[in-house]
Amino acid sequence: MDQHFKIWKTITEQAAEKNARLIAVSKTKTDQQIMELYQYGQRDFGENKVQELIEKYDRLPKDIRWHHIGHLQTNKVKYIAPFVHLIHAADSFKVLQEIDKQAKKAARTIPCLLQFKIAQEESKYGFPLSDAITMLNSEAFHELKNVRIDGVMGMATFTDDPEQIRGEFKTLHGIFTKLKDQFFPDRENFCEISMGMSDDFPIALEEGSTLLRVGSLLFGKRIYL
Ligand SMILES: *Cc1c(COP(=O)(O)O)cnc(C)c1O
Repeated sequence: MDQHFKIWKTITEQAAEKNARLIAVSKTKTDQQIMELYQYGQRDFGENKVQELIEKYDRLPKDIRWHHIGHLQTNKVKYIAPFVHLIHAADSFKVLQEIDKQAKKAARTIPCLLQFKIAQEESKYGFPLSDAITMLNSEAFHELKNVRIDGVMGMATFTDDPEQIRGEFKTLHGIFTKLKDQFFPDRENFCEISMGMSDDFPIALEEGSTLLRVGSLLFGKRIYL
């Protein structure tokens, strides 16, 4: 059996056992590489660059569900608003406002996750929990009719220490539970915890991830030119 297929099938099955789904992170990958996974049955793909995302959307089959997974610049929301399946990393009220505005123009509601900063590194984006709570309590937030908050997203610290990673995933799961209880108790859509990448997805599954974002393990190492 083909090596790529084996890896894809193993991760897909491990995810399914825990009621999680695999998003194949295809940034920097070619159409041909994406189509290989597509032939296996993969339909959820994740990209972090808007330009690359819209080009791939144009060229590739229309039943692919495109996820935007990294920091999203406000001025680029309009390009993906008509078709994006899920925005994983909403990290400010400002970007949610813009998503709402562009979703309205596209006559749709866009599902989003709130990104939380769970890593120790300075560079990672995300809400501090208190800011998110303030926002969720605000009137301005309730005026956003065309965004739907479906859950939370986070990235663990880049470290070899599995217990640190596990602790950070537990923190994100705790944030999910708190927000669910406080703001979304009756909302079935609020059900997603997007966490886990190539190096840490087994831990993420144990800690309750519902969406794995895996790139290099599926495709082989990325080459940035
Ligand atoms: C690139 C990326 C991933 C996938 O990382 P791998 O280590 O290649 O699995 C996941 N999430 C985000 C936000 C990314 O930018």
